[in-house]
Amino acid sequence: MLKEVDHSQEIINSIKVAIGTDTAVLHEPRFNGNEWTYLKDCLDSTFVSSVGQYVDRFEKELAGYTNAAHAVAVVNGTSALHMALQIVGVKSNDEVLIPSLTFVATANAVRYCGAIPHFVDSDFGTLGIDPVALRDHLKTTTDFINNQCINKQTGRVIRAIVPMHTFGHPVNINEILAVARDFHLVVIEDAAESLGSTVSGKHTGTFGELGIISFNGNKTITTGGGGAIITNNTELAKLAKHLTTTAKLPHRWEYTHDEVGYNYRMPNINAALGCAQLEQLPDFIDAKRHLFVKYQSAFADLPYVRLVSEPVDCHSNYWLQTLILDETIAEERNDILAATNEAGLMTRPIWNLLHNLKPFKGCPRMDLSVAISLEKRLLNLPSSVHLGEENKL
Ligand SMILES: *Cc1c(COP(=O)(O)O)cnc(C)c1O
Repeated sequence: MLKEVDHSQEIINSIKVAIGTDTAVLHEPRFNGNEWTYLKDCLDSTFVSSVGQYVDRFEKELAGYTNAAHAVAVVNGTSALHMALQIVGVKSNDEVLIPSLTFVATANAVRYCGAIPHFVDSDFGTLGIDPVALRDHLKTTTDFINNQCINKQTGRVIRAIVPMHTFGHPVNINEILAVARDFHLVVIEDAAESLGSTVSGKHTGTFGELGIISFNGNKTITTGGGGAIITNNTELAKLAKHLTTTAKLPHRWEYTHDEVGYNYRMPNINAALGCAQLEQLPDFIDAKRHLFVKYQSAFADLPYVRLVSEPVDCHSNYWLQTLILDETIAEERNDILAATNEAGLMTRPIWNLLHNLKPFKGCPRMDLSVAISLEKRLLNLPSSVHLGEENKL
């Protein structure tokens, strides 16, 4: 009898060859730059909270890096999404198009505005929204009334769309912008995972009206917890700053607030960490891109998997390395997850699709067959910066 191929063992061997060590976590932060210097300076200044120079500096440097006209630093990516949606006028009972294949924050932020997620299918190549399938869906299921896109089935206004750049790989943003123009939708980009990723040289998050970035501990750079809104629209940037800082009117001692605001401002101490991290971002991305090349050669001989690579004309930050199992071995996914994790190599499945989660079960959706297929077959691999560096410490 022929010996069956042990897929789990082959995958474990390939991961080890790629990363050059026997064990690894999924993604760990790295603090080898000016973190201690800036944090000490921040503590010495006593301005650790809502006042201090590091927030302004971080915003300026982030805007410079992304080539956005403005950046507004906030407490996390989820609050950035919440504010972005509110600022462009997403209201109670609106629908907002979002992928089913995304982190739960995208859908939660829609609900914070009282709006309803409308789930959209993904593309096998980018893992993000498929603009062709979406256009077909909107053509057959919506009408224009008073210049607004109306879901014929629910009668609700479809106000906005939130494309997400999955694991740092840019979505087909130009086609999505075209769909948004034709169906009168506002575009908010969930660029939480794609700091440093560009499309034809233009940074993700700067195509839509507003974009958001996350600096959570597991993202490409971290501020502990943190996020930002980026935009080229000066009015919207001002509004974002105002709303995220309790809507307080500037005055030396008076507390006057002209609307219901939010305490979403990034604390100075987090921004100090962010300034140090941002200095290292180009090196982090070089290492991550190099790690992809190493995975690519280590997996080249396994015909039953493929690695997700950057789309054409795009430059990806390769935040999380991603393996897709062939349909023929899809049912082995859980065995592969168990075997790799037991071997000390941390792997992870993709998020549960959002349309299946309890709070979003009844929400409108299009045919989601690509997302459903991807969910069954996708694994994230160890992706830390140090694994991709030539001279590992
Ligand atoms: C991380 C992430 C967020 C939220 O960011 P937090 O800073 O954790 O609130 C939103 N969307 C996506 C796709 C993310 O990966």
